[in-house]
Amino acid sequence: HCPTGALRERDDTDKAFAALADPEKITVVQVAPAVRTAWGEELGLHGEEASEGKMVAALKRIGFDYVFDTNFAADLTIMEEGSELLERLGNSRKYAWPMFTSCCPGWVSFVSKKYPEYLRNLSTAKSPQQMFGAMAKTYFAQKKGIDPNNICCISVMPCVSKKREASLSYMKSAGAGQDVDIVLTTREFVRMIRAEHINPRFLKEQAFDSPLGESTGAGMIFGVTGGVMEAALRTAYAVVEGKNPEADAFRAVRGREGRRETDFVLGDKTLHTCTVSGLANAEKLMEDIKEGRTAYDFVEVMACPGGCVGGGGQPIHDGCEFAEQRGGTLYRLDSERKLRFSHENPEVQKAYEEFLEKPLSRTAHKLLHSEHVNELYFETHNYL
Ligand code: SF4
Repeated sequence: HCPTGALRERDDTDKAFAALADPEKITVVQVAPAVRTAWGEELGLHGEEASEGKMVAALKRIGFDYVFDTNFAADLTIMEEGSELLERLGNSRKYAWPMFTSCCPGWVSFVSKKYPEYLRNLSTAKSPQQMFGAMAKTYFAQKKGIDPNNICCISVMPCVSKKREASLSYMKSAGAGQDVDIVLTTREFVRMIRAEHINPRFLKEQAFDSPLGESTGAGMIFGVTGGVMEAALRTAYAVVEGKNPEADAFRAVRGREGRRETDFVLGDKTLHTCTVSGLANAEKLMEDIKEGRTAYDFVEVMACPGGCVGGGGQPIHDGCEFAEQRGGTLYRLDSERKLRFSHENPEVQKAYEEFLEKPLSRTAHKLLHSEHVNELYFETHNYL
């Protein structure tokens, strides 16, 4: 907190309430995986009481027209990013190595400002938040016959950086304003529940809406460090070997350390992977890569220690750190899911059949991928 009160936390709940009150607007909200591990903390809800079903019910009670799951878009991200990794491995001389994940805007911004010479190493796949926004204002709008200009796309995220990511000038590939219009943190979501005097304890559980609400365990673990890597490896293995691995075959990437290195055999190749969380660890990683002290094929970096479960938009408990406990919740939810591979998500499969064609298609590139820009240059020249 700022001691003089001159700096205040940005709060976009007024914008969300204004959209809800606007009769012209169809409000479409997505909820990130890590939010479901923490939203009940400040409301005094424990364990099962703070279920996904109650979270959806609370969002419906607040008044959102459609409640969708960012996990759907996380599965979509795996389809695109996993395909990109395999494409790069098949043309390894054409690409810069290692390939970095790109779903954390804190990390992407860090690379862009501090190590711009490595921008081409970042996967071009957009983050799940942005993929969701682009799909909501195209695929979903078409299916429902809604003018995308009337859709207000709102995210509930564990992250403060996601507000900035959503407002980047090039994040409007659907052609109806920004793909994501308003980003709320978990704390702001809780404020909205309180403002509406909702007691989630007494709400009946509700399911996410369709067609952007189905998800797998692989999408679920995006919210914890190592999760993107693990989910991508599950699908990459299935593509290369023609059959699914054991769902937990890549659990070696999990762990509390800020940097973990693991080798996996994929077809005839040994993949050197590294998983990093926290920007101090990311800086050491980049210096090691730059100085040639280490080499990897695929690297996942999340800016917050422990990943999004420990994100800056999550509830704060002075002196206590809950990232590990929340990460455990995501692994439990993953293990309980009937589907644990992104490529088996029926709604993702349908979206490819009906709209996107296949991973890395022209439509997929237009809506779901983006080149990364030198943000320092853009900021200096007021382009962002
Ligand atoms: Fe946001 Fe932190 Fe998650 Fe990165 S790791 S997406 S900065 S919450």
